Order: sequence, then structure tokens, then C-alpha cells
Amino acid sequence: MVIIIMSLGIKGKFVVGFDGFEHRIIRDGVVIVDEKRVKHVGKSYGGKVDRWIDASTGLIMPGLINTHIHAATAPKDKGFIDDTGARHFYMSSLGENLTALGQAMRGPDYEVFAKFSLAECLKSGNTTIVEIGILENLGVDKTVRVISDLGIRATESPTIADGAWERSQAADLRTRWLGVEAGLKKIDEAERFVKTHRGACEGRLMPAIYGDTVDKCSSELQKAIRAKVNELKVPVTIHAGQWVVEFNNMIRMYRRTPVEFLRDTGLLGPDLIIGHGWAIAGHPLVGYPSVDGGDLAILAKSGATVSHDPLVFIKRGNKMHSHTAYLKAGVNVSIGTDTVPQDLLNEMRLASYTSKLADWDCHSGASRDIFNSATLGGARGIGRSDLGRLASGALADITIVDLETFNGVPYRDPIKNLINSSQRADVTWVIVNGKIVVEEGKLTTIDERKLLRDVQKSAEGVWERIPDHHYLKQRADEISPLAYKLWEG
Ligand SMILES: [Zn+2]
Repeated sequence: MVIIIMSLGIKGKFVVGFDGFEHRIIRDGVVIVDEKRVKHVGKSYGGKVDRWIDASTGLIMPGLINTHIHAATAPKDKGFIDDTGARHFYMSSLGENLTALGQAMRGPDYEVFAKFSLAECLKSGNTTIVEIGILENLGVDKTVRVISDLGIRATESPTIADGAWERSQAADLRTRWLGVEAGLKKIDEAERFVKTHRGACEGRLMPAIYGDTVDKCSSELQKAIRAKVNELKVPVTIHAGQWVVEFNNMIRMYRRTPVEFLRDTGLLGPDLIIGHGWAIAGHPLVGYPSVDGGDLAILAKSGATVSHDPLVFIKRGNKMHSHTAYLKAGVNVSIGTDTVPQDLLNEMRLASYTSKLADWDCHSGASRDIFNSATLGGARGIGRSDLGRLASGALADITIVDLETFNGVPYRDPIKNLINSSQRADVTWVIVNGKIVVEEGKLTTIDERKLLRDVQKSAEGVWERIPDHHYLKQRADEISPLAYKLWEG
């Protein structure tokens, strides 16, 4: 049950307030919420509220924004994609193991997994998500119900494409074109969803337009997506620069990099969020020359946002070259989780550390830049100036992280502690749209214990069915061997 309160006051050890230009730290501050918006941020408040939350050892901060997540399918990956990948696909599991895993899912699994992923997001202080896939897998009614019930804020869209990946046993993965009509039909579907669901879930559901991947959307389709986005004025995203195979295929098909192709179709623009965007010209793994500033300069000039989702790529030995290099080039960077665990705090930490490692520089991936990406950067990506910040008039999406924990003490700089030490278990309260959805670390919107049991049961079924869908008929333990051999006898 969501707890509904008209006005709420929160006292905290630290408040991350927004002064109109940047985040600032207020020691011993307060945040006042009136219905679904922030009314006041400051040192004190003389008025009355219906309820006070005393977070005297807490960091009160804007709810985090996750710009890339596949909620309905992600949990199946846990313990499965770890230490696993296809060497012939540059260590990615795309087009190989992930295809079999995905095809082994059944209807009810998607719903259980979607609820679990959204619950994970909220419990790690992540209040807004750019979710990709629930709608495609659950249909409109169930999607709206899941987002409504869990209490999260989400963009959502059908997935638009006029191509499909097709591979031979020789690991030659190519796009099979289906005809642009197939994609245009999906644009119509997306438009219907936008028109019927704008403002749904008390405004938490933000209908959007999603292109699938840069190599599954033809030039004609990308132009049509751009025209529809301009008309409907909704968030838009597409996967691009997500693996080396895609990069090479784009060069082969078009003699252009994925980013150059997006520029030439017109889809690239200040409202576009690019999922991943790490496989670009000049990246050492891609090995393709970058001239005149290359893809980074094109991205920066366009104002587009790159969703940096480090963990899933780190597991493959891949990564975006450096968070700081993108910022220095002038690119807006946001952060996402992509797959399990849906733990944005963990992704923020990894974004910081991988940046330092890439640049051999302790100043790279600075806590302040990472926090900005997970708040203001994400908000800019989805075109919202009322999210990712705590200021009078902003939407009341608030996360409280307790600092009086083994991860939190001693605290001097709460943002550096957050990026370098705090864990999602330290998240105590989460408020979305003025409603409390996590209270004292527990979700108020769902039975956590039942959800965990349901997820385990669904995943066991998916792993069992893998050989029916794997191109070599392999079992789960053959594709992704257990860390240790079983000892039973
Ligand atoms: Zn994705």
C-alpha cells in the first residue's frame, strides 16, 4: 500500500539542494513536500506539515535517474552472464547466449521480473527510469499496472525496428531487413500509446518513442522516428555503440560509424538518449580512426545524451573509454543499469573507477561529476527540468541515505561517501511524486518476500528451458559453467 500524505517535512544531516545552477550541500537542512512537489529546501521551516521524517543522520538527495534498464528480462542474467561471453563477438553475449536466454522466457516470467527490477531500483534510491521492454513483453494494460503499483516514475514505449539480427553458426551476425512498413507500424503503435497514456499513473508514466538499435532501424525509419518525436515532443532513445560487431556492421553497410549514421538520419539531437555509446571511433577495442574530434565531437555538437551503463560491459572486459573524456568533449552523460543488479549506486561507483583507470588519473570520474550524471544529466536526457534536483517547484522524488552505518561513517563529504562507500542497503526512505514508496528500507508497495520467491521460481524455469532455444542446444551449465563443480554423492 502506498502511503499518501498531503504535506511532509524531512530533516536531514545533509540536504543536496539545487540553487538554480548546481547542487549545493546544506548541513542540518530540511526539505518540505506539498502533495507531489517540493515546496521548500533550506536550513529550517517554520510552517506546519502533516508528518515529519527525522533523518538526522541521513543524506537527503534527489531521487536518482536511471537512463537505461531492461526491467522485464534482466533478472535471468544474474549468475549467468558473469564470467561468460562469446570471444568471436568480442566477449559480448548479444546474438548468442542472451538470445537463447530471452527465448526461454514465458509470459508470467516477464511480469515477475519487471516487478523485481522496479523494486530493486526503488530500494537503491533510483526513482526515475528509462525502461525498455516491459511494454513489449507485457502489453499495455499490465505495463501500466506494474508501473502504477510499484510507484516508480518511468518512460516507456514499444520498441521500433525494421530489421532483425540474424546469425550463422560461423558467427556472422547481420541485419535482416523486414521492410520499413514493419517499423512504421510500430511507430503508429507508439503514437497510440503516447496519446492514450500521457499523464497516466499521476504523471509518473512518461510515454516515449524507442528505436531498438542503430543497426535494426533503417535510414528511412530513423527519419520517421525523428519526425514523430518532433511532433509528439516525447523522450527518445536508441541503442548505439553498444558492441564492436554493431560498429563493424555499420561501417560495412554504410561506411559510417553508428554516431555518424544517427547524425545523417537526423535522429541525433538534444532529446536523444543513446544507450551505451561506448563503441565509437577512436575507442581502442574498435580500432577505427577518429578524425577531427570524431564521434565525441559529433555527440557534443548535437547535445545528445549518452547513457553510460558500466557494469554490464565491465563484465565483458569492455567499457566506455572514460566518463571524464566524454564530459571534457562536451557530451552530456547520464547513468543506467541495463541489467542486474538494478543498483545505480553501484553503477555510479563503477563509472567513477573505470574513468580513473582509463585516464590513469585520480581526478577523472570525480564524485561530483558522477552525481551530476545520475541526477541532472539524466533529467536533461529526458527533457525534464523538474527532476534530478531538490528545489522549490521540482517534483518530490527524494532519496534518503543513512550515513550512520558501517558504510557511512565517518562522514565529512556525503557525496564522496555516497560514490565511494555507501551501499543500497543504506537507502532508508524513498519518495516518488510525494508518496513514500520505501519506508525504513522496506517497500511499501509490494510483499518483498513473495516477490523474491517468485523471481527464483521463474529464473529456474528459464534456465531449464535454455537448450530448446540455444543454437547448439547447450544447457545453462555448459554455456555458463558454475564457479565450482558440484560435490554430490
Ligand atoms: Zn539495452
